[in-house]
Amino acid sequence: MARTIRRVLIRTLLTLTSAAPVYAQNHARPSAHVLGQAPSQAPAAQAAPSSSADISQIENEALVWLQNLIRINTSNPPGNELVAAKYLAGVLEQEGIHSETFESTPGRGFLVARLSSSAMPDPSRALLLMAHLDVVGVDKSKWSVDPFGGVIQAGYLYGRGAIDDKGMLAANLAVFVALKRSGARLNRDVIFIAEADEEDGGAQGIKFAVDKHWDKIASGFAINENGRVILKNGKPVYVGIQTTEKVAINVDVVATGTSGHASVPRKDNAVAHLAAAMAKIGAYEAPVQFNSVTRAYFDGLAPTQDEDTRKWMLALGTPDRGDHAARWISDANPTWNALLRDTATPTMLQAGIRQNVVPSEARGVVNIRMLPGNQLDPLLAKLKQLVNDPQVRFDVEPDGGEAAPSSSLTSDLYNTIVHAAGRTFPGTPVLPYMSTGFSDSWELRMRNVQAYGLDPFPLTDEDLSRIHADNERIPVDSFRKGIDFLYGVVSDFTVAK
Ligand SMILES: [Zn+2]
Repeated sequence: MARTIRRVLIRTLLTLTSAAPVYAQNHARPSAHVLGQAPSQAPAAQAAPSSSADISQIENEALVWLQNLIRINTSNPPGNELVAAKYLAGVLEQEGIHSETFESTPGRGFLVARLSSSAMPDPSRALLLMAHLDVVGVDKSKWSVDPFGGVIQAGYLYGRGAIDDKGMLAANLAVFVALKRSGARLNRDVIFIAEADEEDGGAQGIKFAVDKHWDKIASGFAINENGRVILKNGKPVYVGIQTTEKVAINVDVVATGTSGHASVPRKDNAVAHLAAAMAKIGAYEAPVQFNSVTRAYFDGLAPTQDEDTRKWMLALGTPDRGDHAARWISDANPTWNALLRDTATPTMLQAGIRQNVVPSEARGVVNIRMLPGNQLDPLLAKLKQLVNDPQVRFDVEPDGGEAAPSSSLTSDLYNTIVHAAGRTFPGTPVLPYMSTGFSDSWELRMRNVQAYGLDPFPLTDEDLSRIHADNERIPVDSFRKGIDFLYGVVSDFTVAK
């Protein structure tokens, strides 16, 4: 597997390094950007329909769609995602595209629409464009603008979900509408899905769609969130195509002790024992491990880094300097650290009813993220050994922890994404990527769909750090560039030659 990946990587790099200037240098976007004017080094990509919609016109409309989607508060819980689905249905209706909405529980569910190919319907060839409707909650007092205002300021569109995941939703919609307007003949069906409840595990969204309405979304390929195009100093550093993701499991850490009056302290205080246990868990570092995707990722990323980082990145996993390299790389970037090992992160504490009462129980939550393929038991045994406290037990959330198969690095869709990336971001390495976060791709991969995570928008680490945080925003230019990139991918993959 590793050798094949390296061959794929080298071939990718070879294809790309010969190309023209990078994105940053030609910030000025062509006024009327007509599809089909792809650079010459990727002949297959020429297929994009030249008479098709003016993509920049659609980018203008998509910006308004994104603003309007942000203004619909779909914080989960409670979700209320079907209000946003209704808005999408209206936009699609205007384009003459029929959509269906399925309700899992009141106000929640998913919307689906399809562009049919001229060929015999074959679900195994169909492409699914997926994005979730819900967003995580906000603390309004911490925002400089209204998180649901859809405000554009200084070249940024602010709002909860601007990146995660309404940006992707609006980009999928733009590409879907562009295909429709182009009138291009499709060589496979293209399915648009907008689902609820991704932020809380998907029971009301993707699980419901897969379990109850698979016929509506049956597909062999999918594009979803959780990839990345990293921007630094205005230049794209790499394009990451997410092909697998870490596995999330929540574990309750529960300490018990004698309850009583706070004026009579005891050694078996549940709160103190929990705090000590959580501190040990929080300080624990699992051993470094690579899988074929992270190996290829770090190998491909190294040439884009500064001298020191490159040196240590290339030394990762080597017998002589591997440990020091892992230390260096882990300290240099928390995401790199999380890509190199299983992690156990304390996230919640819950204890006590009153200041003057010692409670009999104190609870904490540890969010575990395992490298796909790793088993939970050995990690849990290690944490129990570390805590080493008979007053503390670990309750694992039921049915968590199964890894889905990774998506292939040699599929037609993977190769199409690589080529389109080369056209949109000439000279930029395109790397397979394992995301630390979880996504609805898991459900699809469990059904052998070749699902790929893309967030096609060029974003800095700082932009990305605002996901699930205060003042989430997307650069308007990057939103447009992302639609460009995504349209290149989808039209290359679905338009009949
Ligand atoms: Zn998301």
